[in-house]
Parts: sequence; C-alpha cells; structure tokens
Amino acid sequence: MSQLSPLLKQATPVEVDYGEGVYLYDHSGRRHLDFTAGIGVTSTGHCHPKVVAAAQEQVGKLIHGQYTTVMHDPLRSLAERLGDVLPPGLDSVFFANSGSEAVEAALRLARQATGRPNIIVFQGGFHGRTVGAASLTTSGTRFRAGYAPLMDGGHVAPFPFAYRYGWDEATATRFALQELDYLFATMSPGEETAAIFVEPVLGEGGYVPANREFLAGLRERADKHGILLVADEVQTGFGRTGKFWGMEHFDVQPDVVITAKGLASGFPLSGIAASTELMSKAWPGSQGGTYGGNAVACAAALATLDVIQEEGLVNNAATQGARLLEGSRQIAEKFPQIGDVRGLGLMVGSEFVTADGRADPDTAKAAQQAAAERGLLLLMCGAWMNTVRMIPALVVSGAQVDDALGIWSESVAAVTG
Ligand code: PMP
Repeated sequence: MSQLSPLLKQATPVEVDYGEGVYLYDHSGRRHLDFTAGIGVTSTGHCHPKVVAAAQEQVGKLIHGQYTTVMHDPLRSLAERLGDVLPPGLDSVFFANSGSEAVEAALRLARQATGRPNIIVFQGGFHGRTVGAASLTTSGTRFRAGYAPLMDGGHVAPFPFAYRYGWDEATATRFALQELDYLFATMSPGEETAAIFVEPVLGEGGYVPANREFLAGLRERADKHGILLVADEVQTGFGRTGKFWGMEHFDVQPDVVITAKGLASGFPLSGIAASTELMSKAWPGSQGGTYGGNAVACAAALATLDVIQEEGLVNNAATQGARLLEGSRQIAEKFPQIGDVRGLGLMVGSEFVTADGRADPDTAKAAQQAAAERGLLLLMCGAWMNTVRMIPALVVSGAQVDDALGIWSESVAAVTG
C-alpha cells in the first residue's frame, strides 16, 4: 500500500467529505467554516450550483480539447469574455493550468518581447514553485532551499512593508523606491531589465497591501526604461480584494496581468493577459502545454464570471472584507500578541509578535489550531509564518464573517490567556 508523500504539510487535520458554499463537511458530518477557500481558489464558494452545472454539461460534451491542436467553444468564449473584465488594452490572453505556470509564461513573454535578461521582484513576494517562479520568490527560504542553482537574472528590491520597518507608509514607500533606483544604478540597469513583477497585495509574504505612490513609482520607472510592469494577480484577482483586479485600487495600469486561483472556482486554470502587440513579440509556438485551457476548466471559468456578476460578488468582497478587517482590528485591540492587522477586501491577516516586537509563529500557529478545533479553518503566511490569514469565498455573508470573528476572538483568548 502506498500513501501520500510526507513532503506535503497540511495546515489542519480535517478530512473533508464535501463542500457547500463557505462550509466544508468532514466524514463525521461536522461542519467547518472555511476561511481558506482552497487558498483563495473557490471564489464562488464550494460547488456553486451554476459552476457545477456548467462543468457537468461540458464533461458530457468534451473534456479535453487540446488547445495547440484544436479550437473549442469554452476556450474561445472565455478568451473573448475576459475582455469584459481585463484592464483596458490587455486584449490577448494565454491559458495555462497553475499560477506558477502562468508566472513562467509571463517571464518567458517578458524576456522574449524585450530581449532583456533581468527581472525585478520585491521582498516577501511569492510567485510559485517551478524553477523560474521560485527564483522570483522571496517570501520564505522554504520555497528555495535545497533547490539551487535557481534561475539567474532575478533582482530583489524592498516592498513598502511599513509595519516590518516600524515606519509610516510614506517613509516605507520612499525607502522602497529609493532602493529600487539604487538597484537600477548598481545591479540591473534599465536597459537590461525585462520586467518588474509585483503583487498588489503581498500574499504568502504576509498580506501587505501595496499603495498608490509605490505602484505609480514602479509604473513611472517602467515607462522610463521600457520595462514591462507585470501584476501577479494570482491571489488578488477575480474580485478577491473588492475590485476585480487588485491593481484597480491604485489606478495603476500593468502591461501584463497574471491570473489563476479564483478564475475557475477550483478547476485548474490560469492565464496571462497583455496587449496583442506585446504578445506578438513572443516567439510563436514557444508557449503551450498539454492541458492548458482545458475545456471543463474554461466552462467553469465562464460560469464563475456569470456568478460573480449576477451575485455582485466584487461588491460583496468589498463589504464583507471591510467588516472582517474592522472586526479583526477590534479583536487585536484586546490582545497585545497581535501587533498588526492589515489587508484589502477578503484578504485579512493578523500578525503575531512577542512583547519585544519579534515574530511569534508559535502563538500564531496555536491560535490557528485553536480556531480549527472550534470549526474555523484558517491559514498562515509571512516570512516567519507568524501571520494568520483569512481568505473566505467571495459569497461569504455578514453573519458568517461575524461567526468567524467570534470563533477567532475565542481562539486567540484560549492561547494567550
Ligand atoms: N503567485 C501568487 C501571488 C500566488 O499567491 C501563488 C499561489 N499561492 C502563485 C503565484 C502560484 O500559484 P500555484 O500554486 O497555482 O502554482
């Protein structure tokens, strides 16, 4: 008999039988309030009836229409339909299966289109686990360790993580942009830099929103040097932050958007979008893959777009996200162990610190486990894994947010008391 590899680490002991909306049910019939959403994937909730129906219908018609061999309806329709939600001018889309693969696609496009080798990323950024994506990832050594040599050409600049520095946002932003200019002057001259990859909210790195001045500063430098600004919206896209794309909060237009996770409500699907002009500069046939743009996944994505629109889920994410952030802040006021609460839309993190301000992963983990025992599933993030994050489905209601906050408050009290 074989078993699941021990290299996988599971955040909770739950063995799921089925899911419905924001709940997961285990084999004993116990209900768990799922504020992980498969790491921000099941945007429309578990097994939304419309997504299920669309996928079931497609399974009976065509499961796999290999996209470098034939065109099929879900693929064409999704490519066209995304035009309704993509930033203006990004009228060309390419599909893959996972976030990491889409990051690789953006990397390949950026290098081929510019003919330049270097990529600038930010401290605490997470872009994936494949070699190229892992080389651009600095949110924790666990994603890189033992995997060297990684890809050459990645350069890392600071992110305006004000709480980490103990500065205000404006000072952290000034510092980050100054260091970026220093990087251009010392390591990666503009004419050798293909792209800047940035998450509008650092995800795995600790749920840290960027800000308008910082992203506008990146845009300005990208324009000056002919560098592509690539928004990694794998976690922040598809309504998660209370706008369709995270970048919209900051009024900054990227050249390339990377999407995955919430795109197909749980089916493996990812993609990149750029202008046709930019996409045309890549080498035809250089991108592809056996499963990319899978017919069932594309049908599920089309249904996901319908549900997001019909149920007003982007607005709901904004409303419930504000409620969750405010509620989490009120809880943090009662517990000095929570040093900072931050987020955007339905991405909310509570960072645990010791009395002298150092990262406190033990208390964070204990609080997350205490919540799991009480029926609330949460995840961790941050370089030291000392931030507990909440990332429920976009269909979450105010009552469910309040339930989660009630359990969260009890759980923190139980481990800090
Ligand atoms: N980019 C970002 C911003 C992510 O959050 C993730 C996944 N957490 C990825 C890329 C990689 O996606 P995947 O795990 O699907 O490869």
